[in-house]
Amino acid sequence: MKNGPSFASHYTTVPDTISAVQQVSRLTSTLDLTFESDDGDHIYRLTNYCRNPITAVARLDAPLVGNCPSARFLFPRVPTSPGAKRNTFSASLTFSGPHGDWPARACIKYASGKEEVDRLVAEARFYLFELRNLQGVAVPTFYGLFEGRVDGRPIACMVLELCTGRDAICKYADEFNRLVMVAVCKIHGEGVLHGNLHDYRHFVMKGKQVFVVDFSMAIRHKCEGGTPALQWDGLVNDAPTGCIELYIAERKFGLGLGM
Ligand SMILES: [Zn+2]
Repeated sequence: MKNGPSFASHYTTVPDTISAVQQVSRLTSTLDLTFESDDGDHIYRLTNYCRNPITAVARLDAPLVGNCPSARFLFPRVPTSPGAKRNTFSASLTFSGPHGDWPARACIKYASGKEEVDRLVAEARFYLFELRNLQGVAVPTFYGLFEGRVDGRPIACMVLELCTGRDAICKYADEFNRLVMVAVCKIHGEGVLHGNLHDYRHFVMKGKQVFVVDFSMAIRHKCEGGTPALQWDGLVNDAPTGCIELYIAERKFGLGLGM
């Protein structure tokens, strides 16, 4: 190396002008959650980190509760479970800068306080991991989870694909229930037990697809094949075999015995 270039001449020193804080801020998404009220807008700023950050304002509209339009049309006398929380809203998103595949309308689920935030984070993990291959197939597409603080209290919101079910009404109960059972079997096939499928409240529609929503009570689950075992050769077994949630779902939705 007597006459060759020195080691240093081959490399430029990494500039220290980009600090760690600046690097992080480049990867920070910001969502300003806007609640309208009689005394004006309440705006909460939430953030997350991702490879393709967005900056957006989300204006919340109506809460999303109750059965989807097809279930209301087909089963008008079936009530929804009491005590449904008004923490899920349709929302309009306005972006500053690039926003990739983010939609202009979305579903936003909001949590306030440590217990609710922890539960929402756990639900988001199901969308990100166990259910990742079922987004747009049996569950809505997941866009992001944002966290923040209001007066020291933790808050969070999850942004999902908006599925209003208004673009197509299923007019046949057998077909609607078949779609419900297919979606439920798919989530069990990925090792997830929903834990709250007592009525039609947690099924939404996007076009002609039925999706399962609200995994706040879900648990990981080893399902025996992901198929209900209630009906066999036209006979109905009295005792559950295989998976208990699929057994109950088929009684309620697949065979319409329990609704
Ligand atoms: Zn199962």
